Amino acid sequence: MNKEIATGNWVKNVIVRKEIDKYLIDGKDFINEADISYRLAKNVDPSPQQIRDILQKSLDIKTLTPDETALLLNVTSVEMWEEIFETALEVKKKVYDNRIVFFAPLYCSNLCVNNCAYCGFREANALETRRILSMDEIKRETSSVLREGHKRLILVFGEHQHSDVDYMASAVKAVYSVEEIAAQSGRPTSIRRVNINAAPMEIAKLKILKESGIGTYQVFQETYHHQTYHEVHPLNTLKGDYQWRLYALHRAMDAGLDDVAIGALFGLYDWRFEVMGLLYHTLDLERQFGVGPHTLSFPRMTPASGSTLSSNSPWHVSDADFKKLVAVLRLSVPTAGMIVTAREKPEIKKEVLQLGCTQTDASTRIGIGAYSDQKTESDIDKKQFTIGDPRDLDEVIQEVAKMGFIASFCTAGYRCGRTGETIMGMLSHCDEGKFCKLNAVLTFREYLSDYASDVTRQIGESLIMKEIGEIESMNYFKNKPHLLQKFRSEYSEILGGKRDLYL
Ligand code: SAM
Ligand code: SF4
Repeated sequence: MNKEIATGNWVKNVIVRKEIDKYLIDGKDFINEADISYRLAKNVDPSPQQIRDILQKSLDIKTLTPDETALLLNVTSVEMWEEIFETALEVKKKVYDNRIVFFAPLYCSNLCVNNCAYCGFREANALETRRILSMDEIKRETSSVLREGHKRLILVFGEHQHSDVDYMASAVKAVYSVEEIAAQSGRPTSIRRVNINAAPMEIAKLKILKESGIGTYQVFQETYHHQTYHEVHPLNTLKGDYQWRLYALHRAMDAGLDDVAIGALFGLYDWRFEVMGLLYHTLDLERQFGVGPHTLSFPRMTPASGSTLSSNSPWHVSDADFKKLVAVLRLSVPTAGMIVTAREKPEIKKEVLQLGCTQTDASTRIGIGAYSDQKTESDIDKKQFTIGDPRDLDEVIQEVAKMGFIASFCTAGYRCGRTGETIMGMLSHCDEGKFCKLNAVLTFREYLSDYASDVTRQIGESLIMKEIGEIESMNYFKNKPHLLQKFRSEYSEILGGKRDLYL
């Protein structure tokens, strides 16, 4: 069989129609464009009192309705936006405390059968040099990332038969198998949570991914607007099937992967519409599975090799609007983690971290094999898109510590079975944040002892002392002396050289 026929056969079997139909209501998906447009058009000119009532609902950790979200999106007063921004951070602190979780992306393959107009990996892009990492190469990449101090990875793949689910599962196992020695302390270290960003799959394949031990499964819808979706994803490609993608995370839930991550690629269509799309997606997951997304992502399109659209979109989102959309998402879905990536420049990242983001990447390389190849990120032909923040982990951690945020590498929630409905319930009662506060301190302590530069260690240690003081004085912990006791003893054990302790 020649190569094209083999690929064609594989493509034909990817989409399983009945695994779309089972989620439709009266044959329709949950993105009702007329309804979204109607709500955006009718909920205008909100009064300050209306906005303050909505902000209070977010502070009570309740998911907002589409009408409430539309009212926020339609605020025009500068003063009201300031109140929105401040409340966004307050909500984040209530649910997630003052920590930022760090991770690194690991791009495993840029082979792809799709032709997304904005992406450098698309099949028709002859400028792209194709490469799929072997398991040994994945291990080498993992070692490089571990040497920076990372504990959490997200593996990223193009869509191709050679990087199908068996390859992904092997990649996950390869990552978990790597052990490195932390240079400063000589302690062993390894990746503790592997997440996946990959194309939609059928339930049987998702079960294989679950078996491999992944944490979160992430699929971005890119745009929720049907017509735009079809303009940027040719119909004759796998990704051209809007509904196959829209229900990717419903299938993941059915496969038992209950930490699912949604996102939209901002810059393809009207940003207000996409915010509503992310909310409708959240509401449908809550309706069908009783639990919303673990995280929300809002990547902004950046220039990609051979893609005119990526640098010339009429829907490009300005920095000012980007801040607004981050704040509104924070308020609309108070329990979801929110991820800002290295696509953003340091200045913008800094601003949106203060609007309620909970996670970010650092020391990011998105070329295939780029962590161990030590190439610079200026080589646009080898990447899916361009990044705005190439700083290493220590630099970013130092910056967020100066802002008063603890860098966390905590993976305890997932390893203690606090996932899906359990974790979302705890987050809505502001309980999970308390556990995270303790685990953030423990993992930050590890980082400071194992990897930090002298300056970062100094800044980080005074932040940790302040944090411990807060923990000791919180009523929540006073009422749980066993928890506080365990925390104190694990902290001392880490100082004494033990690793990977959590609550
Ligand atoms: N092939 C899989 C897929 O499409 O779902 C995996 C992920 S793709 C490598 C990861 C994400 O990168 C895409 O979902 C898209 O949102 C984002 N992306 C693609 N091109 C981009 C660009 N030019 N700028 C910023 N983000 C981009
Ligand atoms: Fe392929 Fe994903 Fe890029 Fe589309 S976004 S071309 S599916 S790698």
